[in-house]
Amino acid sequence: MIEVVIATKNDKKLRELKRYLKSVKARVISLKDVSGAPAIKEDKNTFKGNAIKKAVTISKFTKGVVLADDSGLCVDALGGEPGVKSARFAGPNKKDHDNNTKLLKLTKRVPAGKRTARFVCAIAIAHNGKVLNIIEEHCSGRIADSVKGRHGFGYDPLFLIPKYKKTFGELGLKVKDKMSHRSKALKKARAFLKTYLYRVHNV
Ligand code: IMP
Repeated sequence: MIEVVIATKNDKKLRELKRYLKSVKARVISLKDVSGAPAIKEDKNTFKGNAIKKAVTISKFTKGVVLADDSGLCVDALGGEPGVKSARFAGPNKKDHDNNTKLLKLTKRVPAGKRTARFVCAIAIAHNGKVLNIIEEHCSGRIADSVKGRHGFGYDPLFLIPKYKKTFGELGLKVKDKMSHRSKALKKARAFLKTYLYRVHNV
C-alpha cells in the first residue's frame, strides 16, 4: 500500500491530520517512521517556504508521498507578526501562555477596530524530491483583549471570531473545524491526494 508521510513528529498534529485523511486510500505514517530523515530547521520567511522545504527534504528519504504543513498567526497591527515565528514568539523554549502574554502586551494600545488578524496554514505535498502541490488557506478574526476559553491550543484563547463574538478557545473544536485555516487547507490536500493517488497508483 502506498504511504503518505506526514512530516511531523508531533503526535497531536499527526492525530489531527490522520483524522482528515481517513478516506485517502493510503497508509498514513509520520516522520517517526522514516529512518534517517534529518531534522529540518524552519528558517524560511514564509509559511509556504517552510512547508515546501520540509516536504521536499523528507520526500528524498522515503518512497511515500510527503505532506508537510506550516501555520501561524499574522496580526495586522504588528505588521504580520508573529507569522512564521508564531511557535517561538516569546522565545525558543517558551509555552503558549508566554506567547499569548507577549501578544497581549504588544497589542495593549491597539484600538478595537484595528485588532484584525488571521491564522494561515500552508501545506506542501511532494514526491521523490519534487513539489506536487502547494496550498495556503487562512481564517480571519480579531485579537481579544484578554484570554478567553480553555479549548484548543496556541493562540486560540485570543483569536476572536466576530460572527460569534467568541474566541476559538471558547467555541471549541466542532466550530473551529468548520472554519479554520488548517481544516480548509486539509480538505484541499485530501482532494488532491485522492486524485493523485488514483492517477499515479490507481488506488
Ligand atoms: P506549526 O505549524 O506546528 O509550526 O505551529 C505554529 C504555531 O502557530 C503554533 O505553535 C501556534 O502557536 C500557532 N498556531 C497555528 N495554528 C494554530 C491554531 O489553529 N490555533 C492556535 N494557534 C495556532
